[in-house]
Amino acid sequence: MATLGKRQRESTPETPSDARDNSTRLRIDKDSSEIVDAPHPFDNPKADIIIRSSDGVDFRMFKIILSLASRIFRDAFESPASTEQSKDGVSYVVVGEDSRTLTILLGSVFPGKTSNFETLTDVRTVMEASFKYEMEDLAEGARKALMEPRFLEKEPAGVFAIAYHSRLAESARTAARYTLRQPILAVFSPELECISGAVYHRLLDYHQQCGSAASAVPSKDKDAPPFLSGDEQLDCNFCAQGTGKKQKANAARLRTAWADYLSALSNELEKRPYVGVITGDEETFSKVSALAMQCNKSGCRNRTFNNLKHAREELVRSVEAAISGIPIPVEF
Ligand SMILES: [Zn+2]
Repeated sequence: MATLGKRQRESTPETPSDARDNSTRLRIDKDSSEIVDAPHPFDNPKADIIIRSSDGVDFRMFKIILSLASRIFRDAFESPASTEQSKDGVSYVVVGEDSRTLTILLGSVFPGKTSNFETLTDVRTVMEASFKYEMEDLAEGARKALMEPRFLEKEPAGVFAIAYHSRLAESARTAARYTLRQPILAVFSPELECISGAVYHRLLDYHQQCGSAASAVPSKDKDAPPFLSGDEQLDCNFCAQGTGKKQKANAARLRTAWADYLSALSNELEKRPYVGVITGDEETFSKVSALAMQCNKSGCRNRTFNNLKHAREELVRSVEAAISGIPIPVEF
């Protein structure tokens, strides 16, 4: 049996920790049971090389196309050992990647073909394989896919893990920021296997520090909302100077509603330190501002509503500043 580079373990899919080894691991296999053929476009009868996946799927390819896409494949084909084993008269090479990864990897070399990454695991396995086979265009495609909102929004910790593992500092920082959008333990990602406990600990610590900093912003102003402290409403004879019980209560009710609103934001920001917690909660804010609308003086209504709106915008800016001040733990 001829081997090229390191021997690849048979039929065991790569785990993220195994995948740290990016060395060339092509080898020729003697035989294998239950080998099946890959479908179009990997079934061309004129193919001159078969790439066999770790899970026993044969991809019929052309050496010239693969050689142009990858120096590693080119070198492998130039080695006399690579012609030792054949099937139906065509040489075959067994590789460490499974058929799912190879479908994307080998599909990318056909002219005009775009890579389709369905899952985050696809992104990782293809990225690792693209490093291993030195396929820069494919690596770039995987790096771009990693930053797609569908992955960042659903599985930010997994994106962080892959980016960190692949030493993509900016991508790791972006993903770390996205983890703030949900409670850190809300979504498990199998891709976390890529990183060490120490790295994950630092990510948890970052999330917690951002939570503390962000939640302190609304609670700080809870006792003294300046525009509701009395002066402006006291000038309004509906909100503060009316004779009816309901009228007198309006300014006080507004102050209480605002304090409750801030308190609720503070609690939520501790779990999800992210400005979307404020900007995305129109419903609660509307309940507060509806109280301002109960006044029968249009000047008071508009002034109070605008004050509430500006106060909320100020909260967004302050929370963003508080979070930005926490260093993102990406060090290699
Ligand atoms: Zn009023």
